[in-house]
Amino acid sequence: MLFSLPKLSYSYEALEPIIDARTMEIHHTKHHQAYIDNLNKAIEGTELENKSIEELCRTAVNNIPVRNNGGGHYNHSLFWKVLTPNGNKLPVGNLKSALEAYGGFEKFRHDFSDAAKTRFGSGWAWLIKNIDGSLSVTSTPNQDNPLMPVAEKQGVPVLGLDVWEHAYYLNYQNRRPDYVSAFFDVINWDKVEELYNA
Ligand code: MN
Repeated sequence: MLFSLPKLSYSYEALEPIIDARTMEIHHTKHHQAYIDNLNKAIEGTELENKSIEELCRTAVNNIPVRNNGGGHYNHSLFWKVLTPNGNKLPVGNLKSALEAYGGFEKFRHDFSDAAKTRFGSGWAWLIKNIDGSLSVTSTPNQDNPLMPVAEKQGVPVLGLDVWEHAYYLNYQNRRPDYVSAFFDVINWDKVEELYNA
């Protein structure tokens, strides 16, 4: 089965002024679509064709087009889900408890922001769930992610932030720290908790 572009549950302008409509539209319809097209080209007619995107990330990263474009598809699909125009809430439930065990929400915010700001070049910052249910903050270069055995720290992503320039340059230019700080106002904590509980 080949992959297709997931629909967003909000409009392109819904996240303004944090993320502008033009950035959202280009990011979704051009960047994400290109990862999907290139992933499909790489797997069509091969034994990889029927694997889930998670399985591809976990097992097929020695195939460079699959690593880059499969990572691109997985990462962006997660990113759209953890954004919401109704942000400004705080984590609840099991996720709240896990963040308290991590050291508290403010420590998480500090560590995650630091991971996003210091990722050199293009990549992602992550909050991941470890096998024992604890949380860690990490980052990956390019379109790698923590499902991949090549990641410095592996785990299941529950929150991801795209820090490629294409994610913020129209609105923030070189001011990645401002984009990172604003991101906290559009996090869908209900979705993050759902991913944590899954
Ligand atoms: Mn992106």
